[in-house]
Amino acid sequence: MNFDALLDREITRDDIISLLSISDKDARHQLYDVAYRVKTRYVENKVYFRGLIELSNICGKDCYYCGIRKSNSKVARYRMSDDEIVEEALWAYNEGYGSIVLQSGEIQGDQFTDGIEKIIRKIKTETKGELGITLSLGEQDDSTYMRWYDAGAHRYLLRIETSDPDLYSTLHPSDHDFEKRKACLYALKRIGYYVGTGIMIGLPGQTVENCADDILFFRDLDVDMIGMGPYIPHSDTPLGASCDMSGFDGSEQLEKALMMIAVTRIVLKDVNIASTTALQALNDLGREMGLKAGANIIMPNITDTRYRRGYQLYENKPCLDENASMCRGCLESRIQSIGETIGYREWGDSPHFNVRTGK
Ligand code: SAH
Ligand code: SF4
Repeated sequence: MNFDALLDREITRDDIISLLSISDKDARHQLYDVAYRVKTRYVENKVYFRGLIELSNICGKDCYYCGIRKSNSKVARYRMSDDEIVEEALWAYNEGYGSIVLQSGEIQGDQFTDGIEKIIRKIKTETKGELGITLSLGEQDDSTYMRWYDAGAHRYLLRIETSDPDLYSTLHPSDHDFEKRKACLYALKRIGYYVGTGIMIGLPGQTVENCADDILFFRDLDVDMIGMGPYIPHSDTPLGASCDMSGFDGSEQLEKALMMIAVTRIVLKDVNIASTTALQALNDLGREMGLKAGANIIMPNITDTRYRRGYQLYENKPCLDENASMCRGCLESRIQSIGETIGYREWGDSPHFNVRTGK
């Protein structure tokens, strides 16, 4: 396939399917190189850090793939105190991180909404408004999203998981509604958030056509950021337990994820794309590979190590015992080793968001 010709014209669904179907190793590497060139042209070869704080593993939902789903009674549940959360955010700020992500299981209700609102305000005040705040707290009603936005959070990450309603229904109990999740993404955009979404790659039953449609879904939704990573089975979940682990090939799963990153970069061009921790779970150098295939965001886990074992969405999560500064030290040298720089003290919103909102 002539990749360069592809860059000069509108990319069709058939093109995307052909790109995602490439199986030849050299051709895959050529694809990653093209995606890297597109990245350098549209978003520079600078990596932005988002310090990830996993504030609670209490979850009201029961997604079939997730290790902290409500029905997994093996998980000891925790909720960090407000002071601990603010303290970790301030640590990130003092270390030069431009922004943080507050993530947790999905909890709804006034107590949770009020608590998060207070935390956002406190972090904003104590960092003179300088630390950017991304939320990844699941589906909420519009007024909750609005209150958190007014308090100072300006980005929200909510993965659609798959853009195919039929596949979605095989991954979730019947009261987890695909249309509702999609409506949340539209609500977030309406409110003014910088919106991130994404999928899991390599799900049982997922086809290349599904993945092509996922990329078109991102394009049609006009999102600012993509956070996607390989699906990694967790044995204490219905989906993980039903997976034939002898048939689970981590290296093929990793390649599929890298191909999705590369093709998404080629199609969407000026968005931010995360090189997720799940890539590193499959290969020690997985996140660097993600950057070389077109990603430009890394989310170092800055959650206190005492909580990390409680937040295993999937098994073999890396860095469970490393404290945040060790994580940063190892990341810095890894990133420099592939010739990229780090955007300290910058929010690093995607050019796409800035153009879309006229900022
Ligand atoms: N509760 C919130 C945020 C935390 S879960 C929410 O669901 O939006 C964050 C992400 O973890 C999910 O969107 C899902 O894509 C991912 N995840 C869950 N289980 C996983 C698994 N077994 N393998 C890979 N990613 C997983
Ligand atoms: Fe809860 Fe999110 Fe896991 Fe679903 S993916 S069970 S909402 S933490």
